Amino acid sequence: MIAVQPLPDEYIKGHLGRLRVINGFESSEQLMRQLGEQHRRDCKEHKSTPTHKLIAALLKTEPEHYLRQHSLLPFTRVVTRKKDETNTFSKLATARPYAIFQQERSAAYFCPACIEHDKNSMGLSYWRRLHQIPGVDICPKHATPLNFVQSDYAFEYEPHRLASRAEQPSTELIAISDNPIIRRYIRVAEVLLKSEKRAWSYAASTALTSKVNALGLRVAQKGIAENLSDFLKRELPTAWARSYLPRLHEKPEREHLHYIDGICLSQGGSGHVFAIAMAVLFNDAKHAVDDLLTPREHRISTEPKNKKLNTSRRKLLPIYLRNKGIYLAISKETGLRKNTIHYRFRKVGLPSLAYLNSSSRDRLIRYLSEVSDEKLEEWSNHVIQLLNAKPKLATQWDALQKVGLVPDEKMAIPRNSFNCINKTLTDVN
Ligand SMILES: [Zn+2]
Repeated sequence: MIAVQPLPDEYIKGHLGRLRVINGFESSEQLMRQLGEQHRRDCKEHKSTPTHKLIAALLKTEPEHYLRQHSLLPFTRVVTRKKDETNTFSKLATARPYAIFQQERSAAYFCPACIEHDKNSMGLSYWRRLHQIPGVDICPKHATPLNFVQSDYAFEYEPHRLASRAEQPSTELIAISDNPIIRRYIRVAEVLLKSEKRAWSYAASTALTSKVNALGLRVAQKGIAENLSDFLKRELPTAWARSYLPRLHEKPEREHLHYIDGICLSQGGSGHVFAIAMAVLFNDAKHAVDDLLTPREHRISTEPKNKKLNTSRRKLLPIYLRNKGIYLAISKETGLRKNTIHYRFRKVGLPSLAYLNSSSRDRLIRYLSEVSDEKLEEWSNHVIQLLNAKPKLATQWDALQKVGLVPDEKMAIPRNSFNCINKTLTDVN
């Protein structure tokens, strides 16, 4: 079998098409069948081998490397629920072989200027990954509208061969591509494809939630405030939202739209929705992707010492932060009774913050979302100690006030301030 190396950003389906042509097969499927049979014979294996491994073996490259540079997974599956899978796409592609061929657009897209350049410089043309991402209607390199071909077999051929039957996106969508949010969205897609990494869903939702909270938007499923989907609906150009997020376009105000609002609840979500949220919530695409992909190492990489207690605290912390320590809001989000919430959160040293005024609460939440593992443990253990103190402290407020070692003049501290946090913050800075 003749091996043809893929070109920069070449899309896996297009690469298979070129391999098919040079090896004289009628379809990519036939090519893959042949590769599979040959592999089974050579390696005396009975199981079938996933496509990306067969191609990588033919190219004499690493399967992981091939997926990172030529599949859409770094965009479509950028977020993983598994903390230990942020560095691998191969595991996903092996478990779900169909994922690498999942087409997010219903047609095959190319840039006429890119293929003209390819033809002149190499005598061939090829399909690029970036152009296959939904919502990308212009080529960011040439600022030309993309063309598309509606055919299941488009990727079997070089794009210039199909140019005569290609169509263009509507003039409205092309004009919208100049909108700053859409330009940022395209940039986010580009950066994600190049970054070749995955984000842990908890870290990703923390990055987004800090922006969502700063805008005063609601994260909880129920409530009267605006949520992320309301905000996106207002900020995104209408025609663009209608084409690429049709369910958002039809959603009633204040309703929880799970595939969008769920991305702030550590439950994963599609890369498309994460990229849109990043483009709307951040001013800079590179910064947004860095925030999503580079978790605060000290928060999530250190294994907790007291496993039982900390696993539980770690599990509860994102919900606690999202709801700013207000048990009633946590109870609404989780659907659990307030008594249960009270018991569970106090047990791990995450006290109710309903007593605090909003600026103190915000400062404490900010502190807890950035604090190291050790400091968090120290802080929470201190809270637990105070909450269980004998003789019992008069109120939870007294307990809170003592956290962070309040100096002697504490009696003079007005009840609506939270000076102990100042001390804790000073310790950290
Ligand atoms: Zn181009």
